[in-house]
Amino acid sequence: MHIQKDTSLKEYNTFGISAKAKAFFKLEKVEEYDPGFLQDYDDLFILGGGSNIVLPDNFEGLVLKVEILGKKVLSETEEDVLIEVGAGENWHQFVLWTLEQGYFGLENLSLIPGTLGAAPIQNIGAYGVELSECLESVKGIFLVDGTPFSISKEECQFGYRDSIFKNAWKGRMLISHVCLRLSKTFVPKTNYGAIKDVLQTKEIDDPSASDISKAVISIRQSKLPDPKELGNAGSFFKNPIIPEEVFKGLQEKYPEIPYYPDKKDHVKIPAGWLIERSGWKGKKTGQVGMHEKQALVLVNYGEATSKEIAALSEKVQQSVFDQFGITLVREVTIL
Ligand SMILES: Cc1cc2nc3c(=O)[nH]c(=O)nc-3n(C[C@H](O)[C@H](O)[C@H](O)COP(=O)(O)OP(=O)(O)OC[C@H]3O[C@@H](n4cnc5c(N)ncnc54)[C@H](O)[C@@H]3O)c2cc1C
Repeated sequence: MHIQKDTSLKEYNTFGISAKAKAFFKLEKVEEYDPGFLQDYDDLFILGGGSNIVLPDNFEGLVLKVEILGKKVLSETEEDVLIEVGAGENWHQFVLWTLEQGYFGLENLSLIPGTLGAAPIQNIGAYGVELSECLESVKGIFLVDGTPFSISKEECQFGYRDSIFKNAWKGRMLISHVCLRLSKTFVPKTNYGAIKDVLQTKEIDDPSASDISKAVISIRQSKLPDPKELGNAGSFFKNPIIPEEVFKGLQEKYPEIPYYPDKKDHVKIPAGWLIERSGWKGKKTGQVGMHEKQALVLVNYGEATSKEIAALSEKVQQSVFDQFGITLVREVTIL
């Protein structure tokens, strides 16, 4: 077992923070996990693709980078297929693979960075689809003693960018495999965002799953900064969900406020709009700022530290609260 010392994590996080880990290990098989790590190191962090985290400059513990690979068809009928995927597989490459095989359901989730293992943690979602719609179960081990677990979709307690893994099980487990049930019949979902517009521009009336995937990719590329060019972790905050009566009060003051109906008597408001209206869109302070095209994305203009990122996010939260009385909740984890 080769545990590296004093390893740079700059290439392992999409914010591009020049973080360092005291110890670093690439875990290729779940059997390589040793509960003794918890005694040997002050702290333990499980890393996937590093696209939803803000790392500290120095992590004084062991970083386990999950690189468990492999895709296995567990069962298949005429209607659908059940696939088990290693937690270290790249999400987007996996989505493209499913489309090549004629397995549908993930096309709207194209180009989301990161790994399969992290996808259930915040129940990734985009363009009207959430992972939970295709997920069957999640397998892994508990860190304290290495005991295996396998939990069903219902037990995962999925919500909007939420799951048991972010709550009761937070920091307690390592996900090794994710099982997904994908359909062999394609049902297009084009109602969300600009998908319809892109298809219309291309004069596609009867889109294939690959057309949807390509449309989503082009929208994302035009709207979101590429982390290779400008460090970021996608949406920094969740879209707030507020009671309808609170919303009505806001609507009187801001008739143009955008919203989407959500759970009973609640509406979802785009956090990007609140941030933009609070004056943060395109604003830069030091090495950090809120992106000029998408105010919801906090970006690193150079050598930003986790402290600078946290400080800016707090200022944005305060401004939005002062103006709208809404508390923005971070989607990104600051370690
Ligand atoms: C440009 C950009 C666009 C994005 N767009 C979207 C979007 O549209 N929708 C969306 O939902 N998200 C989006 N994200 C956020 C991010 O891509 C997802 O949250 C992704 O699932 C994170 O995967 P990761 O492997 O990089 O996780 P990491 O950032 O490495 O980890 C995230 C969390 O999961 C934990 N974790 C990771 N792997 C495991 C494992 N195997 N076992 C246990 N815990 C684990 C980590 O400890 C950490 O707490 C975007 C990010 C970027 C940079």
